[in-house]
Amino acid sequence: MQTVDVGELAVSAYRTVAPDWILDALGTVAERLRGARVLHLSATPYGGGVSELLRSAIPLYRDLGVHATWKIVSGAPAFFAATKKLHNALQGATVPLTLAERAVYEETARRNAAEESFRDWDFVFVHDPQPAAVLSFADKAKAKWVWRCHIDTSQPQPEAWDYAAKFVDGYDATVFTLAAFVPRSLAADRVDVIPPAIDPLSPKNLSLDDRTAHAVLNWIGIDPARPLITQVSRFDPWKDPLGVLEAYRLVRDEVPGLQLALVGSMALDDPEAWDVYRAISDASRADPEVHVFTNLTGVGNVEVNAFQRTSKAMVQKSVREGFGLVVSEALWKNTPVVAGRAGGIPLQVADGSGGVLVGSTEECARELSALLADHARAAALGASGHQRVRRHFLLPRLVLDELTLLDGLAH
Ligand code: UDP
Repeated sequence: MQTVDVGELAVSAYRTVAPDWILDALGTVAERLRGARVLHLSATPYGGGVSELLRSAIPLYRDLGVHATWKIVSGAPAFFAATKKLHNALQGATVPLTLAERAVYEETARRNAAEESFRDWDFVFVHDPQPAAVLSFADKAKAKWVWRCHIDTSQPQPEAWDYAAKFVDGYDATVFTLAAFVPRSLAADRVDVIPPAIDPLSPKNLSLDDRTAHAVLNWIGIDPARPLITQVSRFDPWKDPLGVLEAYRLVRDEVPGLQLALVGSMALDDPEAWDVYRAISDASRADPEVHVFTNLTGVGNVEVNAFQRTSKAMVQKSVREGFGLVVSEALWKNTPVVAGRAGGIPLQVADGSGGVLVGSTEECARELSALLADHARAAALGASGHQRVRRHFLLPRLVLDELTLLDGLAH
């Protein structure tokens, strides 16, 4: 296991952005947990929503007086191939893990468990299926263990869930993003529902003036003076990047000069991403207005920030989605979204705010085209989305919910 270094954050900095009642409640619950030792375990230090969350949440825990540390499990490529398969099967794909893949998964968990003394911790927060089996091989000691599931487990492949449940059953508590994701076999008294959140002060979300945002995009080959639509997400079939390309093709003739950017990150635990990247690159090679970027070619947080601010609309055409932090990230910047009616997305795009939910490529194209033609509606949707994110999906609310859960387990 490897410790991930994070920066520093002061909870007081959120006074100007997050609602007061959340910050006040956070101070009260943190007081009850002062000095507690919390280990967060995940699979990758970069790429994807979990690393995004932990990079900001850990410093906030610390500023609140809770000793938090973030570690990642180590594993060989065969382990990450197996865990991506398990992730896909838990989201409903029909391919179960082979016996050999199960053996790699369990052996890796056993090795990681042996490297850590869990006596040092009061709470262990384990994120997603990749490290879920560590508990089964650990000396649980006095620590309370929480399994935090970030993916859409509403319709898991049954054999995959039965397999994961063997490891999840030992946890003191489980956390899901939506009630609809909670598998029936879990006892209700060990389930909490907590949606994730974005950090409004991170380089990805902090305020950036138009001039800077435009300069950032110009430098990587986007013309900020022409209309732009963008999807930011790991290159993952569940995010349907080829469907976004298709929707763009249906819209481009109606919108002169339209550009499409597909911005995708390569995560350590996501070996499928290269195949998807190649498929997108091949499918878009002939169109100079389609731009494909990755974190490996230097498109990082500030560039994503600039894309989310400058695009006329953000697309998130997911067909399965745990939460989709990218939706809240866009809305925080007042940019409307056209997004798949999947998983946690309708929680963010709700009550007519933020954007439009779609169920097919044609619908996505139609809604994009309508939004690009109506600036006033686009601006109103973006503004209402911003307010919804402020109330429900900012980091202090997430840390408040997590600490409240830990407090409940401890007292
Ligand atoms: N992300 C990024 N660069 C990329 C693609 C994604 O920084 O090229 C970030 C994105 O901004 C978001 C996270 O990765 O913060 C993705 O989280 P989300 O919940 O949307 O999806 P997940 O990857 O967890 O399925």
